[in-house]
Amino acid sequence: MQFVFSFDYPHEVAPMNLKHLLGGKGANLAEMTSVLKLPVPHGFTISTDACRAYIDDGWPSGLTIEIDRALAELEELMGKHLGDPGDPLLVSVRSGAQFSMPGMMDTVLNLGLNDVSVEGLAAQTNDPRFAYDSYRRFIAMYARIVQGIESSEFDRLLDAAKELSGVNSDGEIPAELLRYLVGAYKELVAQETGHPFPQDPKVQIRGAIEAVFGSWNGPRAIAYREREGIDHRLGTAVNVQAMVFGNRDDNSGTGVGFTRDPATGEQGVYGDFLVNAQGEDVVAGVRITEPLAELETHFPEVFHQLMDIFERLELHYRDMCDVEFTVEQGKLWMLQTRVGKRTGIAALRMAVAMTSDPGIKLSREEALLRISPDHLDQMLHPQFATTKIEVLTTGLGASPGAAVGKVYFTSNDAVRAHEQGEEVILVRKETSPDDVHGMLASNGILTSRGGLVSHAAVVARGWGKPAVVGADELVFENGFAKIGDVELHEGDEISIDGSTGTVTLGRLPLEAAEPPQELELLLQWADEISSGHMSVRANADSGPDAEVARRFGAKGIGLCRTEHMFLAEDRLPIVRRMILADSPADEEQALEELRLAQREDFLAILRVMDGLPVTIRLLDPPLHEFLPDIEALLIKESNQTLSEEDEKLLEAAKTWREFNPMLGVRGVRLGVLKPGLYTMQVRALLEAAMDLKRSGGEPHVEVMIPLTISKAELAYAHAWVEEALAELGADDGLDVLFGTMIETPRAALLAMEIAEIAEFFSFGTNDLTQLTYGFSRDDVEGKLMPIYLAQGLLPSNPFKVVDAEGVIELVNIAAKRGRSTRPTIKLGVCGEHGGDPESIASFVKIGLDYVSCSPYRVPIARLAVAQSLVREGASL
Ligand code: PEP
Ligand code: MG
Repeated sequence: MQFVFSFDYPHEVAPMNLKHLLGGKGANLAEMTSVLKLPVPHGFTISTDACRAYIDDGWPSGLTIEIDRALAELEELMGKHLGDPGDPLLVSVRSGAQFSMPGMMDTVLNLGLNDVSVEGLAAQTNDPRFAYDSYRRFIAMYARIVQGIESSEFDRLLDAAKELSGVNSDGEIPAELLRYLVGAYKELVAQETGHPFPQDPKVQIRGAIEAVFGSWNGPRAIAYREREGIDHRLGTAVNVQAMVFGNRDDNSGTGVGFTRDPATGEQGVYGDFLVNAQGEDVVAGVRITEPLAELETHFPEVFHQLMDIFERLELHYRDMCDVEFTVEQGKLWMLQTRVGKRTGIAALRMAVAMTSDPGIKLSREEALLRISPDHLDQMLHPQFATTKIEVLTTGLGASPGAAVGKVYFTSNDAVRAHEQGEEVILVRKETSPDDVHGMLASNGILTSRGGLVSHAAVVARGWGKPAVVGADELVFENGFAKIGDVELHEGDEISIDGSTGTVTLGRLPLEAAEPPQELELLLQWADEISSGHMSVRANADSGPDAEVARRFGAKGIGLCRTEHMFLAEDRLPIVRRMILADSPADEEQALEELRLAQREDFLAILRVMDGLPVTIRLLDPPLHEFLPDIEALLIKESNQTLSEEDEKLLEAAKTWREFNPMLGVRGVRLGVLKPGLYTMQVRALLEAAMDLKRSGGEPHVEVMIPLTISKAELAYAHAWVEEALAELGADDGLDVLFGTMIETPRAALLAMEIAEIAEFFSFGTNDLTQLTYGFSRDDVEGKLMPIYLAQGLLPSNPFKVVDAEGVIELVNIAAKRGRSTRPTIKLGVCGEHGGDPESIASFVKIGLDYVSCSPYRVPIARLAVAQSLVREGASL
């Protein structure tokens, strides 16, 4: 196997498509050299194959010979030799993985300098100061990266040199002292390693290459890959390249540039440069840079050459590029180019603009593929206006967007603070239906327990409120909370980022969400592609939520969790009365009140979604969720402070208490146990639909039964609908479908029987995941899941990305078996996976009819559906 490829190696395909082999940087250097023929300093790339081999079995045999050959070729091309006392060749050794991992791995510059060649550099440049400054920088960098010596040791010596010569900046230290400093640096290395600083350039290069290979598995790099979902097995390539010097004289310089503005997408000249400086001076911000447009005044010819290169790069890559360049004694050198990172708004604007750019001619399908879900998240939710974030702790990013506010630990306190005009972050161990009012009053929600489909996560997402859940370093004490040594007290300000899961102490500046007008156009293209294949609906439980959903382009409601309607302040007491009823008459009375309330709720939703399908799910959670916390009641009991009402509630709470409520009386089982409840809901719904129809509307109602396990059970539930329809004398023209969620593996397997009754299936992939794995959806993501992920026992969190082997297989089986009985059966997904782009791709493959997700997620799902279809070959 060949490990080393020079930048002008004649690959069989365009090198920019060989990132897996050459890394991003290497692939683009080769593309610039061999295809675009740009002025790139010569060099070669050691492949990712070599890195993987090194990680597995140590230095690969044959690699040294290949490197020696490549170095000899490089010397030949440059007309210079490593370690030459007259005019030495110096090289850089840089990492470059397939996916960009900025700053996560190592780089060593100025290799080839030693006690002899430094004199050659001094003579060539006629600048001993420059030569010795380069040498001392190289020793410090090599010692830190390759030999693991703390850089503070070198800084100490540097500071002493400045003090000795009475100057303030590094650049003013005289040459003689720099020569002395080099000696001191070398002595330090000898002391720390027990060996003299390596003088042989080949030894230096080998050391640097091994360090770069090793940095692939450094803690920073591992953490970065985990966050970005990059495979740990890929390895990095290493680029060895002849050095050019932007800090040679005032006829030299260095800079970075973008072919369009990476923040806004506008066309123009964007970037920074510095005269007489090295690349790291620009990046590190030690000197104030000049805007790239000013390059024209300093180096007019170079400027025009660079602008010409920008144009060629854009036409070649058909995208915005960023570049690093150096001017050495008036000659322009391109050091790097790549398709540039950009903000969401810039991504969108550029993609749309490039479809009408005559040179680039981006197709609409390509434009759609240029936008990532993260880009849309940035546009749809507020973000922090800074990247300088000191992370206090991290949990699961459960509902995207950033929020700041004062900490409150109970929902009642949150509401009170909100009413006094404060911005609130509700901080809880977990949330329950009891906390809904507190969540509503908060700008953001932070919990120490729970996962991506926990109550807090699902509710927050539904409202587009930022939430971080399962931050398990957060410990609750009496009246305050702790994260490590840091105490959080009521009223303390924190900032949370529901996209990344980070929590920060204090207020970070926020940037409002402002989608540009191009978004509508892009989503229109997306819908055109998806039309006839898959549509996107929303999970919404109220008229206002439905309005948000429709505004974001939802084509109906795929899940209305009716239990959320029971939680409003004016409803909960009625529900409790129903549960506590002493007689059938009392229960009847409470149900009647609920019916009237629900009828209004349903009407509001149906009105907003007039003409579109609305799936109403009958009550799902166990009844005890509507009762106060049993622990709190028991404390009151032991303190003898129970009111008469409390006593009844405690009794009911004890009656309805289950060891395993998620496997207990919930879903359709509740209906079987309390049929009056479900009949009431069906009646309220059908009445609302008839009301709307009478007033000229066009309701399309879908009644959905949760947690079904068999045909017999579903037939039993179907009778309630039939009964209500007959009772109401509903006219035949009312469009009512009857269907079920597929949430249990049994229902998936028996789908052919269930489809005899059900006119639609909606896959409740939250419960289906919970029940397929036997993982409690409320607990497993706290302690267990991170270990499973770190150990590679799971490829990803199955509550976020649908399990592509087990759960998807059940969906596939159910879809096939359901269709075998009822070919026209409608198939959708309403679990949280319905808003996850990777999961959506799996659902598209199975050919489901719709996905349903929270209203704020609808644009992302619309994009993801179209992207999946384009990847499967669909076009406009
Ligand atoms: C599901 O289980 O996927 C679902 C949508 O229902 P819920 O999350 O309300 O249990
Ligand atoms: Mg469910």
